[in-house]
Amino acid sequence: MCEDDVTPSGALVFYSEFDDFATWRRALQARLPALRILHSSEVGDPAGIHYALAWKPPAGFFARMPNLRLIINLGAGVDSLVGRDDLPAGVPVTRITDPEMARMMAGYVLFATLRHARDIPWFEQAQRRGQWAYRHPRAPADTRVAVLGLGELGAYAARELQRQGLTVLGWSRSPRDIEGVQCHAGMETLDAVIAQADILVVMLPLTAQTRGLLGRQRLMRLPRGAALVNVARGALVDQAAMTDLLQSGHLGAATLDVFEREPLPADDPLWRMDNVLITPHLASVAIPASAAAQIADNILRVSGGQAPLQQVDAGRGY
Ligand code: NDP
Repeated sequence: MCEDDVTPSGALVFYSEFDDFATWRRALQARLPALRILHSSEVGDPAGIHYALAWKPPAGFFARMPNLRLIINLGAGVDSLVGRDDLPAGVPVTRITDPEMARMMAGYVLFATLRHARDIPWFEQAQRRGQWAYRHPRAPADTRVAVLGLGELGAYAARELQRQGLTVLGWSRSPRDIEGVQCHAGMETLDAVIAQADILVVMLPLTAQTRGLLGRQRLMRLPRGAALVNVARGALVDQAAMTDLLQSGHLGAATLDVFEREPLPADDPLWRMDNVLITPHLASVAIPASAAAQIADNILRVSGGQAPLQQVDAGRGY
């Protein structure tokens, strides 16, 4: 579909505390020249808003807009959106599934996984002690990586890991088929997948089914010394149990981009653990230049009376 097909009426409102409005406006305007694109702070009459592109807007944000036709989550994870009580009934919610975002996430996962596979945290610690600590590298195939979640981001990352020669297992709700990846599906297979993981990469959405999925008992099923990479959501993992297991050595190391509470409080013990690498929830972001195409296409679909693509299923929570 192209912008000549239909000229979208009404305006789009933008809200995000993290993303740059001017960059998004430029990217969207290039594809939808006739659409008015407003920052939430410059909305005069909310009745004129037909589209919302928003990341974690304040409570009541959507309820002010009686003529909304489409809500676009400015990101891949919709857990903070689906539970809101101000979503107008019948208005579709979509999310961003941009290949550039998936590539950026795969880059982070590759970095974190290879860092563990190559024992880099161990060498970092030896360097701080001024020690030449030779440890013979394992063959890539001898490191088993389990990727939990094989969606837009997880499947991309699993393929990239497989291309490195690592042994990759994948886990999802419904059966998936990814060349070179040992795919498993359903809750009944989870414990067996975890038990085989030298490195466990968490790439699941946070839903009613997945909240707290990785509790103490499950983490204990990992082989002793395994590493954990969480780029999904903190609440998928029991953070207190994970911290204990990192202290006891059952978990050898972790790379954590997400936490139960963000920002991670200054007194959290994770900050001071040698075997933990912390990044402040930025493993991947929506990239305006590439994501604008998908957003514009959905706006045109909706203004032309079609259902948008990449719709969130509120019932399953992702
Ligand atoms: P998708 O919705 O495309 O994929 C989700 C995957 O998880 C699917 O494979 C799905 O299974 C699987 N899944 C969902 N529920 C279950 C369950 N109960 N049991 C087993 N498998 C399940 O999500 P994305 O790949 O786009 O994103 C994943 C998450 O990454 C986001 O929800 C977000 O929280 C996080 N994220 C983090 C970012 C960061 O910077 N740290 C940036 C962007 C996203 P099935 O294939 O059967 O549907």
